[in-house]
Amino acid sequence: MVHFIGAGPGAPDLITLRGARLLAEADVIIYAGSLVNPTLLEGRKADCAVYDSASMTLEEVLAVMEQAERAGKTTVRLHTGDPSLYGAIREQMDQLDKMGVSYDVTPGVSSFSGAAAALNAEYTLPNVSQSVIITRMAGRTPVPEGEALAKMASHGCTMVLFLSTGLLEDVEKELMKGGYAPDTPAAIVYKATWPDQQVYRCTVSTLARTARENHVTKTALITVGGFLGSEYERSKLYDPAFTHGCRKGTEG
Ligand code: SAH
Repeated sequence: MVHFIGAGPGAPDLITLRGARLLAEADVIIYAGSLVNPTLLEGRKADCAVYDSASMTLEEVLAVMEQAERAGKTTVRLHTGDPSLYGAIREQMDQLDKMGVSYDVTPGVSSFSGAAAALNAEYTLPNVSQSVIITRMAGRTPVPEGEALAKMASHGCTMVLFLSTGLLEDVEKELMKGGYAPDTPAAIVYKATWPDQQVYRCTVSTLARTARENHVTKTALITVGGFLGSEYERSKLYDPAFTHGCRKGTEG
């Protein structure tokens, strides 16, 4: 059995209880060493074999899983954040299906949630934005034509960019081409929830400069939109006048 587990964004106590239990029981752990906090490995069984997938190919990862399976062992595949986002788990699951190896997935706290916490922010503010676009700038990994950054930016909603910190000159251009005003608030969140977390607030037109001045080149998320500003409407849900299924309001 293979367990795909979301390790959370960095802080070791942000893994789920289920994830932590499965980690502690694992015979083999394959972890994404470039981003997963190695502190998470400390509670492993004494005889647990550990592999850092940072330097491994898909084929090598699958070979480790297959060998463990033949020996009747349990493998944990530990991915950063939540495995469903840029986790490359589908290609592993499809091969495990072919190999007849069973698996399950334990979700994790994604870094985009960690970034919101670092910012003390709410992505979905009434009358500001009710949608979050999670995307990336096209680089060596292409992005489908219909999802070009300028097109995504045309919605003007909250945006969270993964894997794009090295491309911020282009990110700025595309965001403004898509319609964000140059002074739209933005923030770079470096290593959200890690001890060395940093938050750099700026605007869409100063993203590249801000990253350069603070030497941020990777392990960061770019967040953009009015949710970082000061204007919003209060919620209906907690408005004394508003009636809903659980509460009668003072009006109507
Ligand atoms: N599955 C992960 C994302 C993996 S892609 C998740 O749900 O968070 C790797 C990218 O995620 C990095 O390039 C960076 O943009 C972002 N990232 C991962 N951990 C981060 C963290 N703690 N703080 C900021 N960005 C992070």
